[in-house]
Amino acid sequence: MDGLLVIISGPSGSGKGTVVRELDPEKGYALSISVTTRQPRVGEVHGRDYFFTSEENFHKMRAENALLEHAVYVNNYYGTPRGYVEEQIANGKVVVLEIEVYGALQVREKFPQAVLIFLLPPTIDELESRLRGRGTEDLVTIDARLKKAMEEVSTIDQYHYLVINDSIATALEKIDAIVLAERLKPKRCQKEIQKFSN
Ligand code: 5GP
Repeated sequence: MDGLLVIISGPSGSGKGTVVRELDPEKGYALSISVTTRQPRVGEVHGRDYFFTSEENFHKMRAENALLEHAVYVNNYYGTPRGYVEEQIANGKVVVLEIEVYGALQVREKFPQAVLIFLLPPTIDELESRLRGRGTEDLVTIDARLKKAMEEVSTIDQYHYLVINDSIATALEKIDAIVLAERLKPKRCQKEIQKFSN
């Protein structure tokens, strides 16, 4: 099957990081690791969660066109390394970008065939309690992230699918179903179709 680019967005506290990490590589998923100027949280690992870098290096990567998209999110820069995404799509993988909405819209401009999924927790209270309960951010940052969450929800119409993350298992099931259906669209099955043409 042809490769596929899937973007998963959703506010901080939607649980998207957890869901995305559980996507099964055996099903062809390849998770893109972003570059960020944010400080690592306790437990985060360079090269697994993010490539943590300086602002100077981030801007250098941008200038060299090494980022597919980039955005500022609550005072830090984030970007998607271009090379990995292009290689993995060429290898027929389902490349997953877990990125915020402005980056998602930039990618959609460049790859109109990308599939955009928005993930939300079941209620706004849940969002707030997940964000506050995480204990990794100070109060000012939490409030800024909550404000950002409301802003992000207002862009939901730009997405192709909405997945409510009421449990990780069902969110994964829904994402697998979306990806399978998208991969079976004839426009994405050129190799299979070619076998039947003269
Ligand atoms: P966090 O600091 O909580 O890890 O991420 C903050 C936000 O930045 C999240 O919405 C996350 O999806 C987004 N993000 C992570 N990596 C990237 C990236 O490479 N590009 C963009 N545009 N957003 C990203």
